[in-house]
Amino acid sequence: MLMQYTPGQIRQALEEAYQYAAQWVGKGQLPDFIPALDHEDPGRISVCATDLEGNTYTAGSYQGRFSMQSISKIILLEQAIRDSGEDVVFSRVGVEPSGTSFHSVYRLELVEKVPANPLINPGAIASASCLTGRDKEEKYQKFRALAGQLLDNPQVDYDPAVCDCEMKTGHRNRALASMMLHNGVFTGDPEEYLELYYRGCALRVTAAEVSYFGAVLAGDGLCPKTGRRLLEADRCRMYRALMATCGMYDTTGRYAIQVGIPGKSGSGGGILAAARGKMGLGVYGPELDGHGNSVCGMKALEYLSRALDLRVY
Ligand code: GLN
Repeated sequence: MLMQYTPGQIRQALEEAYQYAAQWVGKGQLPDFIPALDHEDPGRISVCATDLEGNTYTAGSYQGRFSMQSISKIILLEQAIRDSGEDVVFSRVGVEPSGTSFHSVYRLELVEKVPANPLINPGAIASASCLTGRDKEEKYQKFRALAGQLLDNPQVDYDPAVCDCEMKTGHRNRALASMMLHNGVFTGDPEEYLELYYRGCALRVTAAEVSYFGAVLAGDGLCPKTGRRLLEADRCRMYRALMATCGMYDTTGRYAIQVGIPGKSGSGGGILAAARGKMGLGVYGPELDGHGNSVCGMKALEYLSRALDLRVY
């Protein structure tokens, strides 16, 4: 695919986006609902892009690892479809925006038996219930291998401290899993599904790796470095559509207006965005807004979207 921006243009836009985003340090909150993550340094911000030829550009004060959290829901969905097929997966989870927070419980009681979409917590737990393998370990290792490919880091792995913390303190997610068991969404062991989901959330990634994954999605599933197919093109379309309609939970509409690039946030402070045919973006800033999205990350994306003309609507 043709390179549409010079490296200099991308570097300059990233640097400006970083400077712009840094003005919002102190305006958000660390995620108190995940105690293992509430000690990150709010000043650490990272802004990265990977073009469709596999070149990665970085700006910002931090190139270290952070918790992938909900960005992993896309990879979990892909593994669920590979293991069980779309018919099974989409009998357990829908594809419509929920208009609710990521861990809202009320819909499963009052609206629909199955979660609205795979990018909210119950949807991702339902995806986890579709993984196949002899045991939890084998299921996780398949998922991890896929994550390694999509992030261009075969060593990627989860942080057990973050996973354990969420297993102990994630009472809402346990309620969601129990509710789905009750509703007949899945059978089996909800504790296992929760742990697989949490391991995915606890993957330790860099913003550069997230931007690489964004480039895979932006390039309709081709590896930006080798051109090898990593994901089916139709699946990428579906993931971008889900990101565009459900990626920021109950603030997806506002994000569409302000940024306008299919994106997925994680409460670890990362955001993934995929500008079709152009580039992938990975941004990080640990402080969140009231909806679980990185404040500085959003600002960085807003800037980049304008500076590089990345919006799709
Ligand atoms: N692990 C987090 C949770 O389950 C993920 C939520 C998020 O990233 N928004 O609450």
